[in-house]
Amino acid sequence: MTCFLCKKTDFVNKYKLLHSEIFQCTLCGIFIKKILKQPQNKLYDKDYYAQYPYSHTLGLTNRYFRSKIRTLQKLIGKSRPSVLDIGCGWGDFGIVAKGESLPYFGIDGSPTAIQIAKNKNLFVENTTLKKLILQKKQFDAIVSFQTLEHVKNPHFFLNSARQLLRPGGIILLTTPNNLTPLRFLMRGKWSVYNTDSHFVFYDTKTLRLILEKNGFTNIEINIDSLRFFTPAYILKRISPKILNTKLVLSKVERFSILNTLPIPTDPFGDLEAIAHF
Ligand SMILES: [Zn+2]
Repeated sequence: MTCFLCKKTDFVNKYKLLHSEIFQCTLCGIFIKKILKQPQNKLYDKDYYAQYPYSHTLGLTNRYFRSKIRTLQKLIGKSRPSVLDIGCGWGDFGIVAKGESLPYFGIDGSPTAIQIAKNKNLFVENTTLKKLILQKKQFDAIVSFQTLEHVKNPHFFLNSARQLLRPGGIILLTTPNNLTPLRFLMRGKWSVYNTDSHFVFYDTKTLRLILEKNGFTNIEINIDSLRFFTPAYILKRISPKILNTKLVLSKVERFSILNTLPIPTDPFGDLEAIAHF
């Protein structure tokens, strides 16, 4: 195994999971998942998108995304910057961007997610970064929420993103923080490691390095403001592994508090990177 970030081949085995292992590069410190046995289910099947994960209680999700739009407006100096949303999922950010009349375009690798977003009348497409570059698309801003950890080839991903930005453009992305106290507490049981579709785990230093190596400047990395799941979502995601799913689902539906109470995805916060091109 060669580190995609520093090209060294010296890794330490940090955690053994059910079907994979987490390795740390001894030079740059990045954490990479090595798959030992492919999971039987497709990574992004219908189940992955069947639940609506984020809590919309108290408008928390909308407030979170509106604050991201304010940041972009301020840094770009336009009230309506054009935005490409990479890994748009079912359009949580898209809805807010549309509400603010931003020229919005979302892409995602999952046809299921794109269909859900299209049903909300969002301008989205199940397409690739490569195709957008060939079409010579350009945007004032790129956002990518909780997507980078899913990307096996982050150099291609970020280099493509840079090509899709106008000079002076901004990228804003979020990803779990590998140095969160939650990880040291949960170790190999950390939910971020145990999501089959997550492959690379960043901290402030490695996130900065991968952005630098792909031509971004003025990189600022901070602990992100909190995002919130609902307890129902968490129970539904973990229940197939430990409990009788149907029984749990029927119980979960009955208690409205489980569908409304906001639980932070990481009480210590994920990472947010903002960088310029
Ligand atoms: Zn390395």
